[in-house]
Amino acid sequence: MTAPLYANQYDLIYASKIFDFSPMPTLPDHAIVGGSGIDLTSKLDENIEHIYPDYELYDCDYAMGYTSRGCNRRCPFCIVPKKEGKFKIACDDIREFWRGQERLVFLDNSMNTNEDHFCKILAQLMGMGVSVDFSQGLDIRYLTDRQAYHLHATKTFKRIHFAWDFIQIEKAVRQGIEKLERYRLASRSMFYVLIGYNTTPEEDTYRVEVLRGLGVDPFVMPFDKFNQYQRDFARYVNHKAIFKSVKWGEYRA
Ligand code: SF4
Repeated sequence: MTAPLYANQYDLIYASKIFDFSPMPTLPDHAIVGGSGIDLTSKLDENIEHIYPDYELYDCDYAMGYTSRGCNRRCPFCIVPKKEGKFKIACDDIREFWRGQERLVFLDNSMNTNEDHFCKILAQLMGMGVSVDFSQGLDIRYLTDRQAYHLHATKTFKRIHFAWDFIQIEKAVRQGIEKLERYRLASRSMFYVLIGYNTTPEEDTYRVEVLRGLGVDPFVMPFDKFNQYQRDFARYVNHKAIFKSVKWGEYRA
């Protein structure tokens, strides 16, 4: 049997398990295990939440952390509202988890929900030479001109991603993309498009074609990865050389 990792070297061991389907690693009996793979209610103590991370433990050359928790939306397929509740600011000083690293990954679920907070955080990074990634995406419905201005001035090392999951939000998507265009952000952005949840194939094609027409890249996310249509459509859209050269009706998988 494998010896428990770090069993004799630390007073307390906390572990987080994200998915319920992933295997549980070998841990000492006294390890405190939480995370969405275990349950949706356990929380870390506030003082632990706000400790500056020891990135050397993970051999990690970038900083990461949350400036907010929760989300005000209620997408039925998402556990964030159940786990974290409504949007709330968790930290308003970026030095809590960033101290000069060249890259910084934000883990917030919906960081631009609050305009003042979002702009305040990005203003702290201006002129610092840091490049960021909004790893969980931003909400196009909340995007304001002021946010777009701050985004324009922020270096990013990955595309800025938004989502168009529900056909009903077309108007907000179009208005948001106008703002992205105004601040020269469209070519730095992409949109996740959820398929197979509550949209028809016609609505899927419609959304990716609208995005194509507006000059932003769609990226299809199948709800059911084993469904043949969803797999084919995702491959068609996400393979950019194919997407740019043929229409869906002409595509043969
Ligand atoms: S907007 Fe994102 S984080 Fe919020 S409920 Fe929907 S999927 Fe979850």
